[in-house]
Amino acid sequence: TYVVTEACIKCKYMDCVEVCPVDCFYEGANMLVINPDECIDCGVCEPECPAEAILPDTEAEAEKWLELNREYSNVW
Ligand code: SF4
Repeated sequence: TYVVTEACIKCKYMDCVEVCPVDCFYEGANMLVINPDECIDCGVCEPECPAEAILPDTEAEAEKWLELNREYSNVW
């Protein structure tokens, strides 16, 4: 799965949401998140993010954000 990280906070761009083929972006408290159960790992969103906030969960930096993405995408 891909995850949204810190750089998304208060970002106003929604480019990622528009390109996602399975609509698995959700609005968290102050950032967007990806529902890891719905993401099909296509990678289309990653280069679309102007803030470079989207990373595959294989990146060390993304790991700590995975739970938060899961939590926010299920609450909202
Ligand atoms: Fe959506 Fe693909 Fe990005 Fe997953 S990797 S959030 S399916 S655009």
